[in-house]
Amino acid sequence: MRVSELLAPTLREVPAEAEVISHVLMFRAGLIRKAASGVYIYLPLGYRVMKKVMQIVREEMDKKGGQELMLPIIQPAELWMESGRWDVYGDELFRLKDRHGREFALGPTHEEIITDLVRGEVRSYKQLPLLLYQIQNKYRDERRPRFGLMRGREFIMKDLYSFDKDDASLDVSYRKMYEAYSRIFTRCGLKYRPVEADPGAIGGSGGTHEFMVMADSGEAAIVYCHNCNYAANVEKAEAVVTDAPSGEDMLALQEVSTPGVRTIANLAEFLNTGADRLIKALVYQTEVETVVALVRGDRELNEIKLQNVLGTQQLFMADERTVTDLTGAATGYAGPVNLKGARIIADKEVTLMRNAVTGANKTDAHLINVNPGRDFTPDEVVDIRLVRAGEPCPRCLGELVEARGIEVGQVFKLGTKYSKALGAKFLDENGREQLMVMGCYGIGVSRTVAAAIEQNHDNDGIIWPMPIAPYHVIVVPVSTKDEEQMKLALNLYDSLREAGIEVVIDDRNERPGVKFKDADLIGYPLRVVVGSKALEEGTVEIKYRRNGNVHTVKLEGAVQFIKKIVEDEIAEHTP
Ligand SMILES: [Zn+2]
Repeated sequence: MRVSELLAPTLREVPAEAEVISHVLMFRAGLIRKAASGVYIYLPLGYRVMKKVMQIVREEMDKKGGQELMLPIIQPAELWMESGRWDVYGDELFRLKDRHGREFALGPTHEEIITDLVRGEVRSYKQLPLLLYQIQNKYRDERRPRFGLMRGREFIMKDLYSFDKDDASLDVSYRKMYEAYSRIFTRCGLKYRPVEADPGAIGGSGGTHEFMVMADSGEAAIVYCHNCNYAANVEKAEAVVTDAPSGEDMLALQEVSTPGVRTIANLAEFLNTGADRLIKALVYQTEVETVVALVRGDRELNEIKLQNVLGTQQLFMADERTVTDLTGAATGYAGPVNLKGARIIADKEVTLMRNAVTGANKTDAHLINVNPGRDFTPDEVVDIRLVRAGEPCPRCLGELVEARGIEVGQVFKLGTKYSKALGAKFLDENGREQLMVMGCYGIGVSRTVAAAIEQNHDNDGIIWPMPIAPYHVIVVPVSTKDEEQMKLALNLYDSLREAGIEVVIDDRNERPGVKFKDADLIGYPLRVVVGSKALEEGTVEIKYRRNGNVHTVKLEGAVQFIKKIVEDEIAEHTP
């Protein structure tokens, strides 16, 4: 491809609305343009990268027995009503009506329609398992689309659905997808981690892993173990209680005056004690009840864990009025002793405490020498705290480390949620009717591309991993007006193409500095400069985008030299 003919409009300025680096760089490098809020045009270079990711995904899905099909974007509302999601999905579902007034949705996901297909076509256990997938646009009417391709309203996803005869068979399908995903992100040249995640709102029978591309700008916080391969989303990470129950003697419960002291930090200072001696009592409301959650003063509550324990749709911090109605005191003085009218959920660590401090349910007062079991009994004792770096690993007790990541894929055991709602059944070996056991497995293709940039860039632009670079090499003749130089550059360009290397030549009549800046911005892994030395000494300069290393190479050996770098780097990422 000649750059003079390529539609890759690079920009110097940063678009005002761009909040993340991948958005800035994709815009500036001429990979995308905005069509509407959260809706993008993929320009030729951007789409080449997408297609490379899709090809890797496709190959790995096929290798595991996945069968590619194509489901419609427009889905009849009736199916969504059958699954119960027409109402639950809310405003994020794009809804439309045809000329006859029939309602439809633009698919944000395809469980309904694929389950409908399979219930109509599959009758016997002999037809299972089935792994069906597609790579297609998805639609989600985000309230506030942000971060470019990271959270758009239209995006490209691969979604695979597995149908199995039982849980054991689902485990096999799940394992296959987990392996395929690991290969996909390795082959894309990305640093990633599969992490244990919370099943959350999708609702399923159990296991789920998220695949995270590691990047400091990532939205998701994860913890992982240095010692073993445990890794989890912080929302999901299990807390380990290593402390033995305190052997202290229980002292007499006592009320102390703590005027104006409402926060844990102030209280610890006021009483000259450690935050780990305090019991934090947090008042929450759900759609059905008021709940008081107790965690040690130096810990943070994990709201997701609490919500899972409660099994509620909603969970929010109680307002001041509710707290006052419950405790009879201003906020900041709640405690579990003699508290009526709320369910008390205590974190496991709390029950190990002796002679602790907590709110007295009285403004400007706290209780000291509070002993769980003697002074109050929680309704439930569970793990509801947030796990942080430095804590022990739940598998091996090694030290946990925190990092940030971007979720690019998820594997999920759905169980019989959709087969039950839609009646997807089959006849088993004994001729008995059974529900199919399902799994769903998504990869955000456009998101993966954005995440690749979040992980691989510098001040000058994108640094593509070789396997997903739009082209491997750019040939830059220093002076396009110098006919001899141009001829050598074009010869090299032709030879590279013949050798199967993906190459562009910057034949624009621009200053070398402009061409170099564009090459760095777009992020071609290798840049070959054909300058005066090509004529004088028969050499070219090859610069490696990732580390800036420059090699001076004889023209006649240049193709072999480049081919080796390209092939080696792709091989390095092939598991
Ligand atoms: Zn470990």
